[in-house]
Formats: sequence, C-alpha cells, structure tokens
Amino acid sequence: MSDNPFSAFISGSGGSSSIEEFKEKSFLDMEKDIITSASSTERMKTSLSSKYCTMSTDDIVNELDTNLKSGLVNPSDIIERRNKHGLNELDSDEEESLLWKFLETFYSDPMIMLLIGSAVVSFLMGNIDDAISITAAILLVVTVGFVQEYRSEKSLEALNKLVPEMAHLTRNNSTETVLANHLVPGDLIHFSVGDRIPADIRLTEAVHLTIDESNLTGETKPSKKNTDTIMSSNTSLNERSNIAFMGTLVREGHGTGIVVATAKDTAFGSVFDLMSNIEKPKTPLQNAMDKLGGQLSAFSFAVIGVIGLIGIFQGRSWLDVFQVSVSLAVAAIPEGLPIIVTVTLALGVLRMARKRAIVKRLPSVETLGSVNVICSDKTGTLTQNHMTVNKIWTVSMNNNPMIFPEDSLHDSYHTGNTTNHIKDISNDVKILLNTGCLCNNSKYSVEKEKFQGNPTDIAIIESLSKFGLYDVRENFVRVNELPFSSSKKFMAVSCGSHNNTNVETFVKGANEKILSLCKSYYDKNGKVNKLTPEIIQSINNSVDSFAKDGLRVLSFAKSNKVFEDEPKDLIFCGIMGMNDPPRPQIRSSIQSLMHGGVHIIMITGDSEITAYNIAQQIGMPVGPNCILTGDKLGEMNEIQLADAISNVSIFARTNPEHKVKIVKALQMRGDIVAMTGDGVNDAPALKLADIGIAMGMNGTDVAKEAADMVLTDDDFSTILQAIKEGKGIFNNIQSFLTFQLSTSVAALSLVALATLFNLPNPLNAMQILWINIIMDGPPAQSLGVEPVDEEVMNKPPRKRNDKILTMQVIHRVLSSSIFVIIGTMFVYVREMGDSITRRDTTMTFTCFVLFDMFNALSCRSSTKSVFEMGMRNKMFNYAVGGSLIGQLCAIYVPFFQEIFQTEALSFSDLLYLITISCTVWLADEAKKYYVRRNNQYFAPGYSSYV
Ligand code: ATP
Repeated sequence: MSDNPFSAFISGSGGSSSIEEFKEKSFLDMEKDIITSASSTERMKTSLSSKYCTMSTDDIVNELDTNLKSGLVNPSDIIERRNKHGLNELDSDEEESLLWKFLETFYSDPMIMLLIGSAVVSFLMGNIDDAISITAAILLVVTVGFVQEYRSEKSLEALNKLVPEMAHLTRNNSTETVLANHLVPGDLIHFSVGDRIPADIRLTEAVHLTIDESNLTGETKPSKKNTDTIMSSNTSLNERSNIAFMGTLVREGHGTGIVVATAKDTAFGSVFDLMSNIEKPKTPLQNAMDKLGGQLSAFSFAVIGVIGLIGIFQGRSWLDVFQVSVSLAVAAIPEGLPIIVTVTLALGVLRMARKRAIVKRLPSVETLGSVNVICSDKTGTLTQNHMTVNKIWTVSMNNNPMIFPEDSLHDSYHTGNTTNHIKDISNDVKILLNTGCLCNNSKYSVEKEKFQGNPTDIAIIESLSKFGLYDVRENFVRVNELPFSSSKKFMAVSCGSHNNTNVETFVKGANEKILSLCKSYYDKNGKVNKLTPEIIQSINNSVDSFAKDGLRVLSFAKSNKVFEDEPKDLIFCGIMGMNDPPRPQIRSSIQSLMHGGVHIIMITGDSEITAYNIAQQIGMPVGPNCILTGDKLGEMNEIQLADAISNVSIFARTNPEHKVKIVKALQMRGDIVAMTGDGVNDAPALKLADIGIAMGMNGTDVAKEAADMVLTDDDFSTILQAIKEGKGIFNNIQSFLTFQLSTSVAALSLVALATLFNLPNPLNAMQILWINIIMDGPPAQSLGVEPVDEEVMNKPPRKRNDKILTMQVIHRVLSSSIFVIIGTMFVYVREMGDSITRRDTTMTFTCFVLFDMFNALSCRSSTKSVFEMGMRNKMFNYAVGGSLIGQLCAIYVPFFQEIFQTEALSFSDLLYLITISCTVWLADEAKKYYVRRNNQYFAPGYSSYV
C-alpha cells in the first residue's frame, strides 16, 4: 500500500511499500524534491486555482453556476459536469499491454534466455524433438511465472483502494459524507480539523482555518487560510490563502468552499505524473527474501557448475550437460520466492481488510506478529462510542441526581414521542440543557433521520427529547467558538438569538477544567450564587459518584459575556453522566491477547475513576499502581516512566502529546508497541509506534495517514484479528519456504548424486522444469493462504529480529529432502538394471513428484497433523489436485509423453510409488505426534520461547 499522502486519490498505482525509514521520510522527501523542482513548480503555478483565487466568491458562484447554501441542485447538470471533468481521481499511467508484459518475462530472466538458447542449439543440431520439448516446457514455466506476477500486481493494486477518500458534500441543501471521487467543479464542500482536502477548493468560509500544505509546497509551517480575494494574478501556491488544495490536511478550525478543480486540473494533479513514477521500496521481508534468493542462487550455481564439470569429465554429451544444468538452475533457484512472499502478504492484507483491519504498509504485517504491547484509546475502541445521557445533576439536587430509565434512553429525537417526557423541570435543569444544546456541534441529517457528529454532542442533544425540548440552535447566531480538543478538554461557544443583541457564552467539558473557570453556580430557580468550598465539594462528589458507575462525565457552565481567548468567570450549571457500554467481544479479545503475551494499556482523556471502572468491566488487570494520570506522567522523564510502566494498565486524563512519551518509554524497554489514535494530535504517536492504528469511522484523515493500519469498525477486537492474521501469514511464509527449499535441495542432490556415481541423469530437462512449476507455482502459493491456526494466539509474540529461516525451518527442510532423495534414489537404482529406459526415468520422475505432493501436505503446518487441520485450504486442494492431474497427463497422454519422454505406468506401479513417497508425510506426522505428546513446540519462529 502506498505511503503517498495522495494515494487515496490515485487509482491503479501498484507497487509495494515501505520500511520504517521510508515511513518517516524517504518517499515524502522524494515527493518534495519533485514538487519543488522548477518544472513542477511552474506546472502547479498555472493550475486552475491561480485563476480562481483572484475571483470573488460571487463571481465564482456565477461562473460555476452553483449556490453557497444549497450547493449543486440539478442531477443532470452534475452528470454533465462529471462527463466533462471525469472522476475526481488520478489514474497512474496507461497500463502496458498484457501481451507485451508476457513477452518481457522471456528476456527479463537470464535462465529462460539460456533455456531458449539450448532449444535453438538442439534444433540446429537436428534434435528437433528436444527442441520442441524444451520450447513447450519454457512456455509452461513462463506462463505460470507470469500469472503469478500478474496476480501479485493486481493484489497490490487492490490494496491501494482500501482506504477510499471521503468528503463532506452539500448538494440540494442536504449534507452527506460521500466518496471524494464523486466531486465535480461547483460542489459545495465542508471540512474540519483532521480532514484531508478532497479537491482544489475556493474558500467561502474559514473559521480559525490552518492547513498543512507541506506535502504539496514543501513548506512545513501550516498556512493560515481566509476567504479574501487575492489581487495579484501571479501568485505562488503558498500565497493563495483562499484556496484549499487537494491532498493537504486541515490542522485547525473548519471551513467551507466551492470545488474549482478536480483530479488532473488540481495543483497536485499537475505534478502527479512525476510522482507516480517513484519506485516504492520493498518491505524488509521482501528484501530478506531477495537476499536469500540471491544466496541460494549462488549456492545452486556453484553446485550446478560442479555437476556440469564432472559430467563433462565423465564424457557426457555437452548439450545434455548444458540442458540439464540450465533446467536444474531454473528449478533449484527459487526465483518465485519473492513473488510468492509478495502475493502472500498482499492476499493476507486483503483478507485482513475483509476482517476490517486495513494494513496500509506491507511491512506492518510482519511487525504485527511481534507486537507485545497494545496502547488503546478507551472511547470508541474499547467502548461502543454509542453514548446516552444516563444521569444529570445540578447543585440543587444534592445527593439525588436525575436518573433516566434504560429504555427511555433510546427514544429517537424525532419520533415526536413526547407523551412520556419529564415535565415540570426546574430552571437550573433548563439552563443546563440549554447550555448542552447551544454548545454543541452535532448536525441533523434529514436523509438519515438522526444526528451526526461527535457522539458526546449527539448524546447531549438527543437527551433534550426526554424533557420535551428540541434543538434551538437555528434561532441563534454564533459569534465565536473554541472547538473541543482533547488537549483543552472543553468547548465554548458564544451566541445570541436573532432578535436579541444579548450574546452569551456556553461551555462544556471535563469537570476539573470547567470548575476551575467558575466563580458561581445556578440554584433551583436559576439564580446565580457564589461557589463555596462546600458546593465545590458537593460537585466533585457527584462527579466521582457518576464516574464510579463507569459514566463519562461532562460539566456545563455559562456566562453572559462573549469570551475572547478563553472563557472565564463562568456560572456552573450542572453535570451530565453518559453511558458508553463496552464493546461486546472486548472481554474475550483482551483475554486472548493477554494469553498470547500481549500487555494491554488503556490511554484515555477520561477521568481515573471512569477509566478504572471500564477497565474492570472489560477484564483488564487492575492491580495496585495500575493507574497513572496525565499530571504525574508529565512530571516523569522517559527513564522513570519506562521503570514505572510495567504495572500500569491505565493512563487517565492524558492528552494526545502524552502518547508519544508513552511509546518512547515502552520502546526504550524493547517493547514492540501498537498504538491507537483518532485525532490530529495523535499523529506523531501513531508514526512513532511500531504499529500505528487509526480509527476508520471516527478517525481524522491526519491520523489515518500517519497510521500503519486502519480499523474500519474502530473495534479493539479487530486488532486481535489482525495480529492473528499477521502471525498466520508469517507461519505460512515459513511453510512455503520449507516446501520450496526441500524440493530444491532434493532435486539438486538427486542430480548431483547421480553424477557423482556416474549414473545417467535420473531426471531430464523437461521433467526438472515441470518440478519447478510445482515448486514455484500453485502448490507453493497455496501454502501461503493456509487459514490461520487459532493456536497462534497461544504463543508469545515473535521477537523483532527473529529470522524467517530459523533452525527449525532448516531442520524441516533437511529432514524432508533426505526422505525424498533416499526414496527417489531407491526407486531409480532399483528400476535401472543394466541400462536406463524411458520407464526408469518415468518411475523416478513420478516418484519425485509424488514425494513433493506428500511433502507439501506436511508443510501445511509445522505443528499440526493433517487430520486436525482437515482439508479446508481449498486452494491447496485444487493446486495439488491439478498437479497430480498434470503428472498423470505427463505419463499417459501421448503428446506429453513425447515432451517429457515418459511412458505409461501400470496401476501397481503407481501404488508402489505412492507407498514409497507417502513415507515423507508419515514420518512428519509421527514427529508431530511425538512432539505434541511431549508438549513441545517445533513451530518455526517461536524457537526462542521453546
Ligand atoms: P479516549 O482518549 O479514550 O478517546 P476520551 O474520548 O474520553 O478518551 P477525550 O475525548 O480527550 O477523551 O475527552 C476528555 C474529556 O473531555 C472527557 O472526559 C470529557 O469530560 C471532555 N469532553 C469529551 N468530549 C467533549 C466534547 N465534545 N465537548 C466538551 N468536552 C468534551
């Protein structure tokens, strides 16, 4: 998956992605180099935004025939615009034709070129049969390789489309969140902090709006935006302060504007062609596989060289030696290894996406199995983020808060069911509810018939219906707003009614914060009284008692003045307690993870008491010293924190900046950390963590961009699924590695032994090439998609530097290849008699292939018996079934008999070969049984924990 910040707008750009350093800089740096190069700066300068930034909003509305309130209205007009401008996405270069790609594979592999050479030589020397056979075998080998590579490319392309870009769009007076590629010029768009700008937009409204344009202009300081028309017609991108550019990120505030350019017409689109040519680095595992492939090739070449030389000294035919050596090189070198790794990773990622975990960077799949600490947000990840106001309290209620019965909480706001609502409420409650309504940013969606926005705000506004009250915001005009942020932990709004010049301020937020800004409170009649220490105590007691029930507590306050920077001298209105139930599967997921050696830490902006209560409910360990608050955390340095952290399972009243400190402290201890986040300020911690996890539903684009993985359902349990898959993928890679290496070692040794003992070659060139197809082709690939064994979660996380080629893998490779070599040699020597016949090589060849099939069966798992696993890997069944049918064709169909130089075997021959070749599988089953009985693991990768 691309790390390109614009990737979501890009369709069809394949290629793998990054290693850690790349995550931090390289790709972005490459982009910046391109962006700041002279020609691209020129291209961006002349993009459409240079024209629109000099026009007034009225002129733009006229020119683009749109409306600042209702947006585009006419559906046929929208379709016309889309036909004219196309979809708002950037296509990478035209695909090369398939035929061309296929032909390329012939000359891109030197081994294939050599084989073609040998076919030509055979032809010239009059061995027409040989020449045809080798050509047919080459065609088969190249086709299988090509199909694999094509699949790998397609699955990587699919990864690029997993996180579609969304936009908040108003059309025909209704605001919806839609796919950004639907936008057309003239559309009315809204965005707020954390959003990515979906097209080039001329701003019509900008509230404290700052946008990070570093990925487009290279300027690291976010740029302040406004709606003023620019006078000069020759401006650089940085100077176009009334334009929000596609792909840039909103750092602060919110805004609205009209789309003036989409796709290729945007400033980013004008340099896209340059960027899409950047080759993306490979993952560490892919690199390791390339390296391993290289080492194995060198080794195989050396062995083949020696075999060839000995053969020539023995006086064998040059052409024979050459053909066998080259085919052996093709077979023994696992050139398919890197491709199978890529396909396995990519298919694994697509499988994870189906389980709602989108891995944005392939290397993260490798890291997932090593994670030993998960730091998770509470709200929305551990809990459902479906809040309902459960209790309210004002000072006049003393110890008797107003509690809502559970079933009354789910009344739809607009059901109009007011018969059961609470009547005769006192003035202080009215003021409290009014404050909650006015200091609120949720929006009602007519289409969806419900409120949308921040769940806390939604809960508050929905609670009005219980009192027969409605949203009154449209009767008021907002003059100032301090939006909620997790750092400030409160929100403030100044507004006045249309017909009244009197403007008041309404505030809500964490109790500590609100109470510290209050001087007085409302009594039952709505009169203002001075706050006394007793009243403050009583407020704090009520907040604590709400929190002990696991409720999220918000305090509300008011002032009859407009605030400038921060509201002060407020009048305390009361508190609301919201219920946010834990997610249904959370308890068992946490148990599974803890069982697998993963330490779970909750990091929340909520209070200690609420956090503690929720932790208890979801089965997190809550022993002494398990809570650390943001204040205490702030006083510690990283070393002190690293010391203290092993007992801590809850960080409460934190702000997002604390997350970075926590990740650093954990990493200092050598932990591999997964960290969740959703807000703009979470981005640095998400980048720093080994696996940054962003929330797909409630997360900002900034967080998604910084993250390695996105949870489309925001659910903590999905992390468990992802870790399971990650571990499973790693096991599968080891399985096919074992299979490929054992086939390779066996084929090489067989020919080497025959040469050493001066025997005729047991396998001819075409047979070796067929074996190569089995080894590098579908059967090997099918081992990469073996369903995840539930047992993986009983094993501790893999260590960061554990090798893929562990001693256990080598052990398995050697033990299976010894069986294959001895068994095949036995059949060969026994059959041979005085001279070698077609039947002898057919027997040997079929014996080797059957051995390989049984070997594939045992490679499916390093610990489990086939009887336990069943035959649920369908691809494996088809691949092995297909290979067996292929083998039968090779020995029974006359055409193939000519190619492979085989002859028909009798049924008893086949039975005899099956009996011999199944020994490799039976021996492996016996070993697994023995290990299980002794309760040891031979699982590759877990060696260090055995
Ligand atoms: P987490 O980090 O687990 O998501 P959280 O959602 O509880 O935790 P924040 O969103 O940072 O953390 O909220 C911290 C505190 O800020 C809450 O306990 C609440 O008192 C207050 N708060 C939350 N949402 C709002 C809001 N929309 N307006 C005003 N105050 C809020």
